[in-house]
Amino acid sequence: MGQIKIRDIKTILTAPNGVDLVVVKVETTEPELYGIGCATFTQRYAAVKTAVDEYLRPLLMGKPVNNIEDIWQLSAGNSYWRNGPVLNNAISGVDEALWDIKGKMAGMPVYELIGGKCRPAAAVYRHADGRDEKEVLENVQKYMDEGYRYVRVQMGTYGGQMNGAKQNLHSPEGIPEGAYFDPAQYTRGVIRMFETIRNALGNSVELCHDIHERLVPVAALNLAKELEQYHLFFLEDALPPEHVEWFRMFRRQTATPIAMGELFVNPQEWKPLVAEQLIDFIRVHLSMIGGLTPAKKLAVLCESFGIRTAWHGPNDITPVGVAAQLHLDLTSPNFGVQEFFGFSDLEREIFKGCPEVKDGYLYPNDKPGFGIEFDEELAKKYPCEYRDHGWLRSRLPDGTAVRP
Ligand code: MG
Repeated sequence: MGQIKIRDIKTILTAPNGVDLVVVKVETTEPELYGIGCATFTQRYAAVKTAVDEYLRPLLMGKPVNNIEDIWQLSAGNSYWRNGPVLNNAISGVDEALWDIKGKMAGMPVYELIGGKCRPAAAVYRHADGRDEKEVLENVQKYMDEGYRYVRVQMGTYGGQMNGAKQNLHSPEGIPEGAYFDPAQYTRGVIRMFETIRNALGNSVELCHDIHERLVPVAALNLAKELEQYHLFFLEDALPPEHVEWFRMFRRQTATPIAMGELFVNPQEWKPLVAEQLIDFIRVHLSMIGGLTPAKKLAVLCESFGIRTAWHGPNDITPVGVAAQLHLDLTSPNFGVQEFFGFSDLEREIFKGCPEVKDGYLYPNDKPGFGIEFDEELAKKYPCEYRDHGWLRSRLPDGTAVRP
């Protein structure tokens, strides 16, 4: 086969579900051969597009598509300043597209190229929410009826006033608009919620919970200890990335399994946690660290330290991003569980060949690459637009702005 080269790189912004997504399409010197990758940083999508169009495109045009690792290293070093979410997403879009292309060239799914399956499908978890513990319980049961055996449970999403959850906040006059939450009320609510669910369902379901970095470290530790009796599958984002040193304290004091990493963008953030075995699950968002190439290395690093994977899988990810996670899930012996949101009919039309969920397990198709055909013209009919992410205006009852 002659040397196939990158002919063009395009960034397509699309929001079929009202969530801003970024797709990178790499076209090659073979007329019909292209690949797509996920570069979604939903809150800052236009910055990612600029990074791809203005910087990676001119850098990589004409490069051979074979050398994925070399292209990743070149792209990461070429900005000199590196390891940030915008540039990592741009690199991810190209990286995953190149894996897609390599699979198509080989006539194999990507999971075959990276070692073959350890399991036929990946167990996924869904999100159950509710205004009170009764409603959360009903939603857990609904997912169990659909065949899911892992559910993340939240009340009022992250304990704030979303979904109409009522709180009695004691606030001074003149506080600004915001997504207010009271850490003490939140904590009591979580304990009540777990008690209700375990009393009703026993241990027939694996439960996760996301603190979403909403408590000060010692309060999060106290909650982790209180929750031990409810046997969580994991407790997520107990601390913000800025305070991970506290995980040493968690290890000494609690047996609740810890999941961490969706906000990580720099290897320095996960290295100590993995090397000191301070977490049980690594949860990075693949495109936020630069795509499949760095993620498969991270999976192997975690394997050697006995840490399992639970990649971040929210609704602000493209189906090709979900497929990239899934192909990694299937090939990782240390896979734990996969977060999953499902796809709308429109998404399935734009991204033909989305992974399919059946009885709580996510299956890839066996087509070459990531197996997804992208309808670029249809995608463009649903353009991205600036959105105010209200939940990202978190405040404490006294009006203090905090991390969400
Ligand atoms: Mg999370």
